[in-house]
Amino acid sequence: MTTTLITGANRGIGLELVRKFLAQGHDVIATARDPETSNELNATGAKVYPLEVTDASSVAALKEAVGDQPIDYLINNAGIGSFAAFKDLDYDAFANMLAVNTIAPIRMIDTFLDNIAASDVKMAASLSSMMGSIENTQASFGLIYRTSKAGLNMALRAAAPELAEKGVTLLALHPGWVNTDMGGKQAPVNPAQSAAGLYTVITTAEPSSELRFLDFEGKTHPW
Ligand code: NDP
Repeated sequence: MTTTLITGANRGIGLELVRKFLAQGHDVIATARDPETSNELNATGAKVYPLEVTDASSVAALKEAVGDQPIDYLINNAGIGSFAAFKDLDYDAFANMLAVNTIAPIRMIDTFLDNIAASDVKMAASLSSMMGSIENTQASFGLIYRTSKAGLNMALRAAAPELAEKGVTLLALHPGWVNTDMGGKQAPVNPAQSAAGLYTVITTAEPSSELRFLDFEGKTHPW
């Protein structure tokens, strides 16, 4: 039996990832900022814990609750979006986005590194975005979101060789343009389709000391 820890699991892609991993027989530890109101998540049967990913004491409390339990798959899913362009920059929003999308996933991997390294699979997958691709960017639309995901990709890529020494493999994943609160109603991929694709990509990825940036269909994404 493998154990999977998924952040931001009360709605959107995270909730569907929980359902998919449970359906495939995994033990799932799922986090939400407010478990008491996370009715759909509580109904899945996952073990639900509170987690505000930007709050060091909240991360520490989750670590305390999980203890030394091995974690086969850590999935950094929690994230926030913004499509503001250069002319609309809000610097408090910029700092918060870096805290949620860039710094928090790294803190989670760092905090749970021993749990991941103690597992059979040893995989940490983080939800990045096609908007974090530097070479595909030609407009300032989504500047702070793009920056937060490009920064996440760089941090993961920089950490990957060192973590491979503990047998831990990192992945950066683009989930598709998904019909969630963040992706909007016009998005062509539904959350269950995205989660099904991500499940296959995450659970079939070979161990590697190099960071791969893959989409939910397993295709390599341009940096
Ligand atoms: P949603 O907006 O639907 O859900 C975001 C989730 O993240 C919610 O559970 C939310 O919790 C949680 N979250 C946000 N901030 C924090 C925080 N500070 N601490 C803890 N949890 C937090 O987003 P999606 O499901 O669409 O996106 C999931 C991931 O996929 C994100 O990382 C996103 O950037 C990425 N992605 C999504 C795309 C899309 O088209 N939808 C495209 C590319 C990437 P709460 O309910 O409490 O707010």
